[in-house]
Amino acid sequence: MTQLSICAPYTTPTMHYFTGGKRHNLKRGKDLVRAMSEHIAYPSNINIVNTSFLIGMPILAVTSLVYYSMNYGISWFEPIIFLMFYLASGLSITAGYHRLFSHKTHKAAWPLRLFYALFGAAAFQNSAIKWCSDHRVHHRKTDKEEDPYSVTKGFFWAHVGWVMVDIDKDDVDNVKDLQADKILAWQDRNIFLIGFLVGILLPALIGMAWVGGIHGFLGGLVYGGFIRVVVVHHATFLINSAAHTWGTQPYSTENSSRDSPLLSFLTFGEGYHNFHHTFQADYRNGHKWYHWDPSKWLIKSASWVGLTSDLYKIPTKAIESRRMKRTIDKKSDGNEIDSQLQEKFTECIAQLRTGFTDLIERRKEYKLAKQSKNTQTKNHWRAIKEGHKIKIKQCKIRIAKARIEFKYLVQSMRLTNNVKAIAA
Ligand SMILES: [Zn+2]
Ligand SMILES: [Zn+2]
Repeated sequence: MTQLSICAPYTTPTMHYFTGGKRHNLKRGKDLVRAMSEHIAYPSNINIVNTSFLIGMPILAVTSLVYYSMNYGISWFEPIIFLMFYLASGLSITAGYHRLFSHKTHKAAWPLRLFYALFGAAAFQNSAIKWCSDHRVHHRKTDKEEDPYSVTKGFFWAHVGWVMVDIDKDDVDNVKDLQADKILAWQDRNIFLIGFLVGILLPALIGMAWVGGIHGFLGGLVYGGFIRVVVVHHATFLINSAAHTWGTQPYSTENSSRDSPLLSFLTFGEGYHNFHHTFQADYRNGHKWYHWDPSKWLIKSASWVGLTSDLYKIPTKAIESRRMKRTIDKKSDGNEIDSQLQEKFTECIAQLRTGFTDLIERRKEYKLAKQSKNTQTKNHWRAIKEGHKIKIKQCKIRIAKARIEFKYLVQSMRLTNNVKAIAA
């Protein structure tokens, strides 16, 4: 198999060319042209359909946008139809293909699964069955040779290169659960037809019904179809490329995944990718309430009307203690930590975990007590309520104390390191 991978300039000044597993460093310019022509000379691995689509669609989007703008200009209708289809197809990929079908972070009723199947097809990223098969391999083998969009093969490869060539990826044994879903099996059989009808024809018809005539038809086609497909494509691709290149690693350095709140704005919350790779069973990617994660909000609000259920959340104590351990590793920078300090850190993390466990228990007790509220006199209930509130507050104080103690320990570690550096 011959693959071309162009590494981004910020990683290395050379470009790498893979031939049968061998890697040769290429200088820019002539060598790259030679490598590309060699590749084109053996086009058997290039997926003509995908490559033509990925190159042709942006060209079509830009030329049709110029033609349309010159003839019809722009009003409210165009951005609205773009936004409608951007939201529907983008969220079908992030909340549907990704968090529901790939990771089973929650359950969804059939009308929602059908919606995801229809508008996921409109995103032109293949069927849910094939998308999820690739994605499950990506998680199991992140950064390894088997990872379909491993960033170790270069930014371009992870972003879009892997879609342009045929790799042995017809094996969908890891998605037997999805093949058993009638909606997804039907979508897989008719993926291109559904994609064309929902992703191209539907916005054009809505435009025609809304604005009327060829003006509306073209407006819907260009904004809700062509441009929107290109934007959703590259927003999704950024998760495979940029979210494995830029950002922080607050939870794990076991793989290249990174957290980038900025990327979350473009990708319906998928930018918290280091969190996601560490806790993939969680239906949220941005786990704090203020983290920008529209996919999480969609899944949560759908649960209020019975469309989703069994939303899985990783316990806060597990998330926070993981983050603490990662901070210790980062601050120690590979140096051995003093055994006394290590003991204090362990104690502090244990305090935090028991604080959270007790808090959950106290809340449960309070909830249970509320059921007998009507059988109590007003004054007696007030006393019971106060008792529960005090117990809950005590747990919160213990958690806060553990957090402060942790910060203090990290600071003292930094000071010790500085003193050592000065002494050296
Ligand atoms: Zn994932
Ligand atoms: Zn990833």
